[in-house]
Amino acid sequence: MVRKYSKKTADHLNIARERIDKLFSQADEVFSENPELADRYVDLARKIAMKFKVRLKSEYKRKFCKHCYKYLRSGVNARVRTQSGKLVYSCFSCKKFSRFTLK
Ligand SMILES: [Zn+2]
Repeated sequence: MVRKYSKKTADHLNIARERIDKLFSQADEVFSENPELADRYVDLARKIAMKFKVRLKSEYKRKFCKHCYKYLRSGVNARVRTQSGKLVYSCFSCKKFSRFTLK
């Protein structure tokens, strides 16, 4: 018996990307009122990305803490500094740093 694998077509990937886009924009909207909900959206977006093996855009990777996965907003729950050509985000909830290269 030939086993058929479920095809992950380009359509699926596009849907996944769209959902990730939507989740991050929703996270951005709700953050000021409900930061916990924003964290939840980040979590969902990450799970979709993992499931479909989609890479999160670098702009999205900067929007959450890579240690505790909380949605970050500079000046609110994170501090952003530049350090020798790199962006350094310090997360206020876990007190860890995330570094991103500047283009
Ligand atoms: Zn953190």
